[in-house]
Amino acid sequence: MNRVRCLVLNAALGPLDYRVPEGMAVEAGSVVACPLGPRTVIGIVWEAERLPGTDVPAEKLRPLREILPVPPLPAPLRRLIEWTADYYVAPLAAVTRMALSSGGALKGPATMVEYRLTGGMPERMTPQRQTAMEALENEQATIRELAGIAGVSEGVLRGLVNQGVLEPVEVDCDRPYHQARPDFARVDLNPEQAEAAEVFAAAVRRREFAPFLLDGVTGSGKTETYFEPVAEAIRAGRQVLVLLPEIALTEAFLGRFEARFGAKPVLWHSSLKSTERRRAWRSIAAGEAQVVVGARSALFLPFPGLGLIVIDEAHEVSFKQDDGVRYNARDVAVMRARFEGVPVILASATPALESLAMAENGTYAKIDLPSRYGAAELPAIRTIDLTEEKPGRGAWLAGPLVTALEDRLDRGEQSLLFLNRRGYAPLTLCRNCGFRFQCPNCSAWLVEHRFSRRLACHHCGHETAPPETCPECGEPDCLVACGPGVERIADEVAERLPDARTFVATSDTLNSPGRAAEFVALVEGGAVDIIIGTQLVTKGFHFPELTLVGVVDADLGLEGGDLRAAERTYQQIAQVAGRAGRGDKPGEVLLQTRHPEAPVIAALAQGDRDGFYEAETEARRFAGAPPFGRWAAIIVSSEEESEAREAANRIGRARPAQDELAIYGPAPAPLSLLRNRYRYRLLINARRSAQLQDTIREWLGALDHPAGVRVAVDIDPYSFV
Ligand SMILES: [Zn+2]
Ligand SMILES: [Zn+2]
Repeated sequence: MNRVRCLVLNAALGPLDYRVPEGMAVEAGSVVACPLGPRTVIGIVWEAERLPGTDVPAEKLRPLREILPVPPLPAPLRRLIEWTADYYVAPLAAVTRMALSSGGALKGPATMVEYRLTGGMPERMTPQRQTAMEALENEQATIRELAGIAGVSEGVLRGLVNQGVLEPVEVDCDRPYHQARPDFARVDLNPEQAEAAEVFAAAVRRREFAPFLLDGVTGSGKTETYFEPVAEAIRAGRQVLVLLPEIALTEAFLGRFEARFGAKPVLWHSSLKSTERRRAWRSIAAGEAQVVVGARSALFLPFPGLGLIVIDEAHEVSFKQDDGVRYNARDVAVMRARFEGVPVILASATPALESLAMAENGTYAKIDLPSRYGAAELPAIRTIDLTEEKPGRGAWLAGPLVTALEDRLDRGEQSLLFLNRRGYAPLTLCRNCGFRFQCPNCSAWLVEHRFSRRLACHHCGHETAPPETCPECGEPDCLVACGPGVERIADEVAERLPDARTFVATSDTLNSPGRAAEFVALVEGGAVDIIIGTQLVTKGFHFPELTLVGVVDADLGLEGGDLRAAERTYQQIAQVAGRAGRGDKPGEVLLQTRHPEAPVIAALAQGDRDGFYEAETEARRFAGAPPFGRWAAIIVSSEEESEAREAANRIGRARPAQDELAIYGPAPAPLSLLRNRYRYRLLINARRSAQLQDTIREWLGALDHPAGVRVAVDIDPYSFV
């Protein structure tokens, strides 16, 4: 063929046709450099019949510049990109960009220079050189990266290079990873695990699409179970993708993986260095990376030989992306498995209601692990009624919880206090005039962070130092904290249990895999008595000496208008409760609540999971909510309030009249100002039979807005702010 259709990486442009110059051999999926005006853009050669065409005559076509030195994007991935763009009403180019997520990888093979210590000493030792040399033991990286690791300037390190203390090493950017060995260490599986593992392994051998819901209680050994089909895929020379919801969880996972397979898997997440990113991408595209563990963005990597996909903690909300292409990695992963023709395992102790419904109607095969591994038993759960057991003024921990903490401290066991609120206090106000500190960019309160002495917005990242005087009335030292965050709970613990060694575990303190590893080592080494943490510590961690979990505010998740609030509360508390009693010693869970009679709290206390899911299912059926109906949101934003409002009204007036759709709004979004943009929302509730996406595309496609207006579509939304 000498005419090809290319999808170019520019969301404003449709597909473009090009001429293939003499001697260039392209195929569908080839990654190419395309001329566009005076510039060159990256494009993917696509099957012409699958994209709307242009009628540019052949003699006017411009020639492709070159084929980039990477394998063509595989056909199943191209189908996934099409499906994702179609389902989530997103531009094809924006979805394709997620597959080409390493600019460096597209440049082809390369070497780079890294530096490492030689063992020599500088002529003159300075404190900074001393610091650097101690920090860089066993490190090898670029000067810039080493400077980051050592916390010194690049100049200090260049000085050490001149002195021969650091030496350059030429490194192949694409050097291979260590090979995982499927039979490195066999584990003893109990009969339930062994049976499940064999079902999965057989599915890997059959090489056909097979979705599984692995429903196992916390501590039942789900990871060890799905490691068996992973081993089976490695034996067959196929690739495996394991999706985890948080980077903070990967460190614990890597340890378990290495113990089982004798090598670490290939990592993929947003904070990889660009060199690691290109190495991982190229290794995956070449079919060499065997097992890739990653965050949701790993879903669009160009595996040529996938044999299995695993989604761990598959119920987690963080699989939903809420900006750019708004997709749910759990659902897209199942589609990728379908296009690839491979099994996919959704593992969870608290499956999403939608996943359970798929198992119920037979779409997913459900595999249960109903008991904990070894001698461990599920913890006993009790509620503490805060309307009766009132903590004192300015305190948040009720008497029975403090007593239980003291008890563990005496016995040398560990406890976990859970409160899903970062910082010291969620709201700060002036005692004198009542002034509330608000983010200048968002309609949100600033959260006081006392450790780092700042007021921060959790939506846009705006930060400011706490002022000496009230900006409104000028009164000095007048700021009062309202409500608790984890830092305030840490203060209370320090006051009431002064001997306890505490660790505040949040995304502020566990913000890198390294920090997470330190945390795990401290807890495992017995250097921490009480962990005080947010949702980050609710899952994945396995601490055998941890026997008490205290939920500071079990009602917190039920506030706000989220459609899934009850389900999320149930999942979060069941998960955090699952951290207790994972070793030989029995666990206990105490839930502080003002509503012990609320159905979700009562179900948790009685261990009545089925009862909770049944009640929740009925509530969803009544509301026409997923899985019985569908939701979609349209979010209109602009830096001009009037522009956003008018655009939202224009969309509202053009609403389609269909029996199968109920359309609410437009109304100001609950978060009506976000990052300096004013926001309006429309919410659509659709019957399952409705052609939801086509309707939205037609509806919005017929309208024009000023350049400053952004219209985003969120299919199957999780966030209603
Ligand atoms: Zn004031
Ligand atoms: Zn803000």
